[in-house]
Amino acid sequence: MYRTGLGYDVHQFALDRPLILGGVEIPHTHGLAGHSDADVLCHAIADALLGALGLPDIGHYFPPTDDSIEGISSLEILEKCRELLAERQAVIQNIDSSMIAEAPKVLPHAEDMKIKMAEALSIQPSQIGIKATTNETMGFVGRKEGIAALANALIYIPD
Ligand SMILES: [Zn+2]
Repeated sequence: MYRTGLGYDVHQFALDRPLILGGVEIPHTHGLAGHSDADVLCHAIADALLGALGLPDIGHYFPPTDDSIEGISSLEILEKCRELLAERQAVIQNIDSSMIAEAPKVLPHAEDMKIKMAEALSIQPSQIGIKATTNETMGFVGRKEGIAALANALIYIPD
């Protein structure tokens, strides 16, 4: 059985935080606020994978009230998704994603992000799509208040 999942996430910019996207630190004036490393791309992808499995979202597995996960790398969240997929013999077919931000330019880092996230998920970098766009200066993204990310995933679960 093939199943798809959808993920969406958004984080506000914050000073004095590194900007981590797709497991890669990207030079920028701001990072993102959040309980973990606030990797908005990993979070959207994790929710897409969990959704494809019909499981609750990452807030269920990594609640913001859990002090033990404060500041963790979101690649660990993808590793947890890999475990949940493996428990069901589910195989990722592909993941596609888009980041929405006015700045910084993230596409120069896309190949590095694919490598990091593919490693965490035990798939090939070519199975991950990463796209980026701006919000044409409109809304909270347009005002440079944060970064949003969308993802979908296609998985195969044997009968
Ligand atoms: Zn998040």
